[in-house]
Amino acid sequence: DPLVSAYAAEEDQAAEQSVRPKRLAELIGQHRVREQLDLLLQSALRRGSPPDHILLSGPPGLGKTTLAMIVAAELSAGLRMTSGPAIERAGDLAAVLTSLSEGDVLFIDEIHRIAKPAEELLYSAMEDFRVDVVVGKGPGATAIPLDVEPFTLVGATTRSGLLTGPMRDRFGFVGQLEFYDPDELELIIARSARILDVPITDEGSTEIGRRSRGTPRIANRLLRRVRDYAEVRGTGVVDLAAAKAALAVYDVDELGLDRLDRAVLRALIRQGGGPVGLSTLAVAVGEQPDTVEEVCEPFLLRTGLLARTPRGRVATPSAWRHLGLPVPAGTVG
Ligand code: ATP
Repeated sequence: DPLVSAYAAEEDQAAEQSVRPKRLAELIGQHRVREQLDLLLQSALRRGSPPDHILLSGPPGLGKTTLAMIVAAELSAGLRMTSGPAIERAGDLAAVLTSLSEGDVLFIDEIHRIAKPAEELLYSAMEDFRVDVVVGKGPGATAIPLDVEPFTLVGATTRSGLLTGPMRDRFGFVGQLEFYDPDELELIIARSARILDVPITDEGSTEIGRRSRGTPRIANRLLRRVRDYAEVRGTGVVDLAAAKAALAVYDVDELGLDRLDRAVLRALIRQGGGPVGLSTLAVAVGEQPDTVEEVCEPFLLRTGLLARTPRGRVATPSAWRHLGLPVPAGTVG
């Protein structure tokens, strides 16, 4: 379901550019990570040397790319962006690393998906700012050491547990991004509406914020869809009536759950509410276990609809109620 998916759709990429906060001071929410990063960056600026490597972890759409861009902006540094899946061979990474200028920020999205030989090359670049590039094959192969300019790596991952131990250890700072509260999303929506020149009422932004699944990417996308509705069928203003009517058209429920979230809850409920193991649950909803664990579960846990037990996942009484079903006796959570 592309409307409420936390993953970026093509449409988002252009639309997101204009509303992306550019500096730490503009960032809404994420107070803990923001303060920690502020200290890290300020002290690096005072020392005049690049800060430690930074790992950002959290579900999609919470602002990892935004923060990487902010890190470069705050340091007045150049930014290079790539992703784990794009780096298939060590040589791909060596080319990127050796072309960095002093102080540059290198952002690697989905860093847990980087190929093994490239990962090993990255270790020495992160630690010693040098890489050994192997030329040739077999017994005649030689390693040519190359210097890399001091740089700061910003890695992003949906879960820091997906990284190998040696990789995790090389980051001096790990920032865990959290889902946003509805009032923070409301501020994000009001800010985006201002930038996009969309007339909006407080009730309109509150309603959209409440149903944005704790995720700014979804908040911005729902704002665009409610704006469309308001322009075509409403008064042109994103108000409560337009928000309610548009979100009903797009089947976004009261809590903003997406198709997969609801499928997970239904699968648990079909099993009497659980406990159900992760892999069984993933098969039941036709998804990869990773997607269920990294995208759905954190949000369902946070909203109190799902609980984890040693024997598997269970639907809480709120989950039964949310789906309009009577809560069976003995259901706990
Ligand atoms: P992915 O890993 O899926 O790319 P991400 O965590 O990198 O997701 P971003 O692309 O940084 O997410 O953020 C998605 C959108 O949400 C951005 O366009 C940005 O406008 C908005 N956004 C994210 N965080 C904030 C914030 N704290 N305040 C305002 N807007 C935000």
